[in-house]
Amino acid sequence: MTRRSALMIIPVDASEERADFADTFARADAAAPALSVGELSTQRGDGVFESIGVVDGHAQEVMPHLERLVHSARLCDLPEPNIAQWKQAIEIAAGDCGAGEAVIKLILSRGVEHGPTPTAWVTVAPAADFSAARVDGIRVVTLDRGYDLHVAERAPWLLLGAKTLSYAVNMAALREAHRRGADDAIFLSSDGFVLEAPTASLILRVGDRFVTPAPNGGILHGTTQLSVYEHLAERGFDVGYAEIPASDLGKADAAWLVSSVRLAAPVSRIDDHELPVDAALTADLNAYLLSPRD
Ligand code: PLP
Repeated sequence: MTRRSALMIIPVDASEERADFADTFARADAAAPALSVGELSTQRGDGVFESIGVVDGHAQEVMPHLERLVHSARLCDLPEPNIAQWKQAIEIAAGDCGAGEAVIKLILSRGVEHGPTPTAWVTVAPAADFSAARVDGIRVVTLDRGYDLHVAERAPWLLLGAKTLSYAVNMAALREAHRRGADDAIFLSSDGFVLEAPTASLILRVGDRFVTPAPNGGILHGTTQLSVYEHLAERGFDVGYAEIPASDLGKADAAWLVSSVRLAAPVSRIDDHELPVDAALTADLNAYLLSPRD
């Protein structure tokens, strides 16, 4: 049982060293209003976040998530998060998670307009039930993301490598996928390369080789993809990154969308192309992803 909860955080400077940050945390009622109407996260989606999977009270891959939070904050010119402070907040949040799967969200917002500090908070909620997606698989459609593969180098202000709170486009892509009779989407660049899903990374298997789009600044580097690669490499598989033309999707022997809370969802169809679900390997990946990982 997971108790919905929220913890407001007064962010301290990244260089501040101390053993206890308790006086910078305040529990909030998860069902009650907690933000100012001037809050820029709600007005403009101006902030960054992380979603951490929790299994039986164990928060998974905390450091990779915190490192990506720091990376996102840098890209957005937000004050650098104090890793030790956020780690303590995650420990408190994980204490509210009982048996089963839950999700801890970290949110760092630019704060209130003309306000003194960024606003930061952590929430805890039970995870949705993804057991069917993990076994039966999901159907996906490819959707044009509307920019080319190397746009991040030319236009860093698009913040493409940052996990920003502005997910309206990602949610619109999911709705479009549903309208087209699919469960999810894979974004393609305007010059025809594979990017990522709206809320997940894509891994393809071609023969015995696993490949995922190179994180060149235009997509998020998924913590789950990194973790899956570590596991596959330990099992002796060849894993790598590449610029993947959309035409290669039809050559894949199997594919998965992977992310921190849904974990590994095998892809059973890409547009009109049916893909076999590798039930044994998928079960192995999800068993690994559900085991305690640091
Ligand atoms: N790409 C996008 C756009 C995402 O939103 C997410 C997760 O939410 C991912 C990839 C996968 O990241 P992770 O495996 O760290 O959850």
